[in-house]
Amino acid sequence: MPSHTLIQDGRAHDAARFSEPADLSALESNETIDVLHIANDTDLETLASALGRIETILIDFPAYTDGRGFSLAKQLRTRYGYDGLLVADGPLIPDQYAFALQCGFSAVRLDDETLKRHTIGDWQAALDDFDLTYQRGYAIKAGPATSIFDARLTALDERKAADPFFGHSAELTLRKSIKKYQGDIVLATSMGVDSAVLLHMVSRIDASLPVIFLDTGKHFRETLAYRDELVERFGLTNFRNITPVAAELAAEDPDGTLNQSSPDSCCDLRKVRPLDSVINGFGARITGRKRYQTPERANMAILEEGGPQAKVNPLAYWTAKDITKYMRQHDLPPHPLLALGYLSIGCQPCTTRVTAGEDPRAGRWRHSEKTECGIHMVDGKWVSTETKATFEAF
Ligand code: SF4
Repeated sequence: MPSHTLIQDGRAHDAARFSEPADLSALESNETIDVLHIANDTDLETLASALGRIETILIDFPAYTDGRGFSLAKQLRTRYGYDGLLVADGPLIPDQYAFALQCGFSAVRLDDETLKRHTIGDWQAALDDFDLTYQRGYAIKAGPATSIFDARLTALDERKAADPFFGHSAELTLRKSIKKYQGDIVLATSMGVDSAVLLHMVSRIDASLPVIFLDTGKHFRETLAYRDELVERFGLTNFRNITPVAAELAAEDPDGTLNQSSPDSCCDLRKVRPLDSVINGFGARITGRKRYQTPERANMAILEEGGPQAKVNPLAYWTAKDITKYMRQHDLPPHPLLALGYLSIGCQPCTTRVTAGEDPRAGRWRHSEKTECGIHMVDGKWVSTETKATFEAF
């Protein structure tokens, strides 16, 4: 078998990790696929539902005169939103390198015979001729690098070092984190307007993963019905409905009106303490937090380690449009209150509709200073707060 070299960012890299790519039969399992090799006439619909768990796709180029692989790459990037590594596999020539990048390829894999026909300098020169208007979307940083492509590589390396899951799709992030924290990771869900996305992904990877829902006793009946619908539809076998302690409820909120006189005390009683008793037992927690939601989350990593409990944020880079797209693609049911103008849904007494143009969270605790449910982490413990907490909650 000939050995191969990977040309990426105008440089030669070892391509050993691509030496035994899987073929389309690997799609039949539900496992993560490191490297998939496809022919250039593959029907992409056959891959569509598995793209989130494929790290690298090699597209076959039987000859440099056969351009079908270029359109396949373009479709994978634009129509299917594939965000893994895409490699043109065959005897391309440096003159085609820039076009390959424009079509969405990340690299070219060459066998030894092809590599002999041109020097690495030829590939680098092809990049240097590459019109910079095609660089949109790449992370270019000023720094010690000598060319714009070195700079791009340096920037990506830095981001990877700071966030090992950077660049992974949400589904791949989930797969890797479930493997990494095997048996010690939990998904806490609010059964809100976005919740179906992560629940759906988890159900495709491991339906027995612990999933926790905090049933405060104050939820909309629509939320509880939605909870039951999603748990059944996704076949979640380790779903846990957490409730406040009955004796504490009877002592501290006998008539159920504590939310009016002291919402922070109510959140402490109905959310913080019940959750604290369960969730701190796990080494890692999956959250639905997204960077666009608040300024505090704007620089959030996908994997946050360092504290007593790791946070995995598979949707960190998702936008509201990404959520809608995923829900449509997988025909997931929306929360029933979404159509009635509730864009962020918590307990019934503390949630109101949102009008057009308002912040989605404007309907939560509308007539108070409170903006979060009061659950956040300090020194590794869930605690309540009297102020505007910055930690993600329910
Ligand atoms: S959101 Fe409102 S009802 Fe729910 S626990 Fe907090 S204060 Fe109580």
